[in-house]
Amino acid sequence: KSNFKRKPEWLKQRLSGSATFASTKRLISGHGLNTVCRSALCPNLHECWSSGTATFLLLGNTCTRSCRFCAVATSRTPPQPDKKEPGKIAEAVKGMQLSHVVLTSVNRDDLPDGGASAWKSTVLAIREHNPEVSIECLIPDFEGRAHDQSTVMELRPEVLNHNIETVPSLYAKVRPQADYKQSLALLQRASSSFSLAVKSGLMVGMGETEDEVYAVIDDLYNSGCKHLTIGQYLQPSAAHFPVADYINPDQFKLYRAYAIEKGFRTVQSGPFVRSSYHAEECLSNT
Ligand code: SF4
Ligand code: SF4
Repeated sequence: KSNFKRKPEWLKQRLSGSATFASTKRLISGHGLNTVCRSALCPNLHECWSSGTATFLLLGNTCTRSCRFCAVATSRTPPQPDKKEPGKIAEAVKGMQLSHVVLTSVNRDDLPDGGASAWKSTVLAIREHNPEVSIECLIPDFEGRAHDQSTVMELRPEVLNHNIETVPSLYAKVRPQADYKQSLALLQRASSSFSLAVKSGLMVGMGETEDEVYAVIDDLYNSGCKHLTIGQYLQPSAAHFPVADYINPDQFKLYRAYAIEKGFRTVQSGPFVRSSYHAEECLSNT
């Protein structure tokens, strides 16, 4: 018996191809690059790629962690990072004529700096080839090391994002190698020490209560976060953490209203929202 829950109407999507979709795909595979759009089986792939947006996945496509909601492959010893990756991403950004680019990476707990130096090289390479482009860095926690977090923060990306992912009571079950307070501290550092536009996001439908979601929104706000994404968790395969509920679109609206009332500047909240969905909207509201 499958443990997949039947999807409600609001989660059924049309897929459409377009010329832009095809050229985005060509550019990305031509450079041998990884995108989170594909690695995480993002439900918005057609929409985003058709409009020329993509989120690049740095440091390979194999993660040293194994969050139970995530479709990215896991290994304790992933291949060494490709030294040419920063230059290839910079060229792809140029080829795609992006004005705003989202970068993220797998966790590389096997590397002494967690990959922070590769993050730096990538941001610098993108800026060198594309002086006008704005960058959102969706960073891992670097196991809480302020030094490595600061390597990225010092580059002053237009948006610094780090996902809180879920409510604290579910961390042990779904995000065992991460720490809720450590993630809040990262956001706080980006906001108070670096005055960056700080963003975070979570998935709902994993068994959390509404009050727990409101408490996370409070915690994020108190950590200096001003941009928020809330989306439905979708189980990538039968081996992953099961969906507890498909949250009704009306509930997403309530979460959004609460966060706006609290003082968040941009809030994307809806079944298909992912942390890089409509990412450029933060820029006009920083
Ligand atoms: Fe890629 Fe983000 Fe769009 Fe998903 S929402 S397809 S990860 S750019
Ligand atoms: Fe996936 Fe990120 Fe967890 Fe790695 S750390 S398994 S990429 S969610």
